[in-house]
Amino acid sequence: MVKIFVDPGHGGSDPGATGTGLAEKDVTLKIATRIRDMLEDEYENATVKMSRTGDQTVSLEERTDMANAWGADFYLAVHINSGGGTGYEDYIHDLLSNNSRTAEIQRTIHKEVIKLNDLIDRGIKKANYHVLRESNMDAMLSENGFIDNTNDLAKMKDPDWINNVARGHVNGLAKALNLHKLTKTTKTTTKTASDSKKALQRPASSSSSYTKESTDSKKKTLFLPASADSWRIYPLNKDPIKKNALPDQLRPSKYGGLQYEILGETWPNVYIIQTKQLGKVQIYAGPETGAEIK
Ligand SMILES: [Zn+2]
Repeated sequence: MVKIFVDPGHGGSDPGATGTGLAEKDVTLKIATRIRDMLEDEYENATVKMSRTGDQTVSLEERTDMANAWGADFYLAVHINSGGGTGYEDYIHDLLSNNSRTAEIQRTIHKEVIKLNDLIDRGIKKANYHVLRESNMDAMLSENGFIDNTNDLAKMKDPDWINNVARGHVNGLAKALNLHKLTKTTKTTTKTASDSKKALQRPASSSSSYTKESTDSKKKTLFLPASADSWRIYPLNKDPIKKNALPDQLRPSKYGGLQYEILGETWPNVYIIQTKQLGKVQIYAGPETGAEIK
């Protein structure tokens, strides 16, 4: 797993730079949240922790302490610029050489962001910022437009722009950190190659016919009966066996039964569902469990 720490700049009592009707802290949170969602939803070997997920005040020390304690592989700080300019730039720590791994990652991310963000390219830069200096891992800070520039500000108010900026960062991170897309094809390949296949008794049928089944099951719904107190669930990136079960279980009896849209089938009777609390997870719901699929 590649651990990516995403740090939306400012927050809470610190709004950061401000423009007409917009504060930096809100734009950085939107971009960072999209980055997290894309990484977690689309990549099988990426895991994300954020310095804040709401409008909280978090000091710079707290941010780097959090990333260091977690043992992040990469630190991405997302900011918005101000002070009478326009365009995009990004920073790594100023003591790093152009041959450093961090500089290489910066160039890769920079290239991908510039493709999609519709901003003037102000180049790759270095600075002695706290988050770049005090973080123990490769770290980069991006400055996504100037909030005091009318043109840049208009873009920041557009959800499509937020999405494109996030997508650029994600594409760059994926290339630089060798993230693998979570697709049915790669999942099938991975599982087929893994030893745990034996334990799970995947049917002898070809993987291609199996992929088709997964596609067909997309519109189906999974019902967990109220008679069940708890139901084990598994993270997407692990085989659905007992030792990999998440500490949190679903509680059908508590809610008078639970219902989820089925997003895919990874193993026979093992489905991908979207939960409110835990995001996408795998669940075993064979006929003998009392679960209903409609
Ligand atoms: Zn800032």
